[in-house]
Amino acid sequence: MQRRQILKASLAGSAGALLPAMAQAALPGAAYLAKMAAFDEPHPTDIRVQGRDAQLLLQVLGRLDRVKRTVGHGNFAVLGFDPMLRYARNYPAIGRFSAAELEFMERVFFREASDYGFMGPKVTRKLTSTPNLRNLVRVRRASGNLLYRGEPLQAFTNLQKRVGPDLVLTSGIRGVVKQFHLFLRKAASAGGDLSLASRSLAPPGYSFHGIGDFDVGQRGWGKRNFSSDFVKSPVHARLEALGVLQIRYPRNNLLGVRYEPWHIRIASVS
Ligand SMILES: [Zn+2]
Repeated sequence: MQRRQILKASLAGSAGALLPAMAQAALPGAAYLAKMAAFDEPHPTDIRVQGRDAQLLLQVLGRLDRVKRTVGHGNFAVLGFDPMLRYARNYPAIGRFSAAELEFMERVFFREASDYGFMGPKVTRKLTSTPNLRNLVRVRRASGNLLYRGEPLQAFTNLQKRVGPDLVLTSGIRGVVKQFHLFLRKAASAGGDLSLASRSLAPPGYSFHGIGDFDVGQRGWGKRNFSSDFVKSPVHARLEALGVLQIRYPRNNLLGVRYEPWHIRIASVS
């Protein structure tokens, strides 16, 4: 883990510079809007992992798949980096992460995501940060999803009270490991395209799901809740009518992220 320490130390000095260059005042250009409208398509300016990293991406993803299978969906959502390493060491079905795989994960985590088009702020700066389990509550009938007590739980309870039981929690708190898994899986499915992946999934360390945000959906709608279909749902119509929808990634945002009408904005970066 020495290299991790060195990397962390070398980055500590430039922490301020990691804050996003959010050009809030600028209006989005037509080229940017066209790219974001086709967020799931490769774009000529996209950045991809190169050479040996393409192989490492697949290796790490495979290992994360096996970690998830071993610990279970609910535990995986809040698993920390160091406990993940322990599981990998102790379970032959997962297998120890190689030095090259760990170094790859460190480079992904500590890379400035604006390099490849994600302009949101870094929310979790430590690779080894873990959600505080004592402050988390498992939400009923939400596939094991968890929320932080306090503002997030209160906001969700209020939304459900006002909209009705058809409003469900579709994704709650996600730790760094879970975000790695989602992001790398998306990047792998796009041939290592980090830019494409980051248009619909925050890179690890950049997800507000790490600190309080959550996603809501229409009961029984499955994956459609994470697509443009969600705006056609009765739950969304009700949220709009109530005027209570505060979303993290609005239409035409300048953060390099698709429109996500389901992602409720709660947390702020300290
Ligand atoms: Zn979300």
